[in-house]
Formats: sequence, C-alpha cells, structure tokens
Amino acid sequence: MLKRKNVIAGIDLGGTSMQVVIADNRNNILAEAKALTRRGKKPQEIVTDIAAAVVEALTGAGLNRSDLAAACIGAPGPVDRERGIVHEAPNLGWYGFPLGPLLAKRLGVPVMLENDVNAGTVGEHTLGAGAEATNLVGVFVGTGIGGGLIVNGKLYEGSHGGAGEVGHMLIVVDGPLCGCGHRGCVEAVASRTAMERDVRAAIKSGRESAVLELMKRKNKTRMTSSVISAALKRKDPVMQEVMDRAQRYLGILVANLVNLLDPECVVIGGGLAGRLGEQYVGPIREYAHEHFFREKDVKRVRVVAGKLGDNAGAMGNVVLARRRLRQAGGPSHR
Ligand SMILES: [Zn+2]
Repeated sequence: MLKRKNVIAGIDLGGTSMQVVIADNRNNILAEAKALTRRGKKPQEIVTDIAAAVVEALTGAGLNRSDLAAACIGAPGPVDRERGIVHEAPNLGWYGFPLGPLLAKRLGVPVMLENDVNAGTVGEHTLGAGAEATNLVGVFVGTGIGGGLIVNGKLYEGSHGGAGEVGHMLIVVDGPLCGCGHRGCVEAVASRTAMERDVRAAIKSGRESAVLELMKRKNKTRMTSSVISAALKRKDPVMQEVMDRAQRYLGILVANLVNLLDPECVVIGGGLAGRLGEQYVGPIREYAHEHFFREKDVKRVRVVAGKLGDNAGAMGNVVLARRRLRQAGGPSHR
C-alpha cells in the first residue's frame, strides 16, 4: 500500500458523465475514474454514484478513504459556495440541492463546491494554457457555452456568485432561442448543440452532407466533437460552413471580452478545442482580431486552446480544494 496521505479528489459533475481525479500535494494525478451521470435518478442516488467513483479512483491509486484530505466538486450551474448548495442545475433537475454537505457525509472529509466552468478556468489558469496570467478569461464550448474570469490572479465570482456566464451574452438580437429562455445568446448560435441544429436544418433543406452518415457509423445520436472532426477532415461543405459561422460568433465574443476586461490570455477550452486545437482556435482568434478595440492587443493578448482537455474541471477542483484548505476557516462541510 502506498503511503500518500493527504490526497485530494477533484470531481467534475456533468449532465451526462462525471470525472474524478485523485491528486497528490504537487497536483500529480495518481488515478482517475469516470462514470455516467444517471439522468432521471434521485439526487441522493447520484451522490452515491459520485462517492463510489471517488472510492474507485482511490482504490486505483492503491489508497483508501482515510488517505483523502478533502474533495471539491464542480456542478453544472450556479452554486452557493458557503453552504454547499447547487442553486440550479437544469441538466440534472436540481434546484437548491445541498450537494456539498451530502457528499461530505458520504466521504467523511470536507467537500467544497464550485461551478464547473469556473473550476475549468482555474484548472487551465493554474496548470494548463493560462500560465498563471494575472487576468484571464476561460471560454468552454460544449453542448453549452460557459466561462470563467480570473481577475488579479483570483477567480472573480461577482456580487452574487454568478459571474462569467459568457455563453449568455447577447450576440444576435431576436436570434435563435437559447436553453436559458432568451434569444440570440452566444450559446444559441455557437455551441455544439447550435451547430448540430444548423447542420440538420441544412440537410433538411436539401444540402448534401455526410454528417448524419458519420454519426450512424460512429454509433452517435448527437453531433459529437469526433463527428465534427471527421466531417471537417472530409471537407464536408455544410460542416465547414456551420463551423466557420460558429467560429465567427466566438471570435466576436472573444473580442468583446478582451475589449471589456483587457486580459493577458483567453483560453478556449472544452471538447472541440481539445480535439481540434489550433484548427478550431486559429479562426476564432483571427475573427477576434478584426474586432479588437486596442490594436496592440493583437500582439499582446494570447488567444489559445486549453491544454487540460476533459481534465480541466477536475484538476481545477483539486487546486481549489488545496487553496480553500489553506485558508483557515474557509467554507467547507463535514
Ligand atoms: Zn442563453
């Protein structure tokens, strides 16, 4: 048995799957575990699943529960960090759910809570593409679009804990309906979900595209990053067009964020950026440059792909857990 007490569990809870990493005090990953988020299950059953995934990862590292010092979990929605409550996670059907205290009871260690994309931003900022920039913006594109802000080296939470919702900035007045109920949000025109809607509409209107066939071949019901990547490799014209439009909107978003916040770095994270890298981020950067207010920003603001891929959220939670453990009297639940 390894003697590595004092490890941290970083947990990223998504609407479809959860990811756990166990890290030592130098943020080295000792083990990982993945599990499906069983939608439609009672919240308490999902807490049981999360605890099981943590134990599985600990076992994988040759450790047990007594080696765990703390855990931090990122939830898909706004959270109350002090009380460990998930205010709203529509993907999971959670409203006012006390995830922190319940998971702490299961694991027997302090459990901190964070918004998933904020955690991803902290991960990229500290251990990934962010290189510990003083001011940084994270933009994570997946089925939705989320963001996080690092201001003066710290996660900027806003006055009510809700800062960083870059996906719901208005970009097309009276545009397509967004999952949030408003129209024309960036998420409604540039997320993977929006791209899939546009590809399907183009095919329905008679355009030729291999996307549906690729989905069938890969046994996917959704247009995943791997389907998008394969379609682009085949130079599928509908996919190229839809991708270019999404990149243009994201470029405008990045320019708005740079003009507002004057950061050193914008990290584009999430599955698409992870899979396509520069092929995805390059055009976003070029479109952004067209709308920079300060011309010098073209040279001095880095717009880059994330480095941590799917681990960004879980690793960010590891960093946050260590940070909050160090703060005497910081919010935790036992
Ligand atoms: Zn929205």
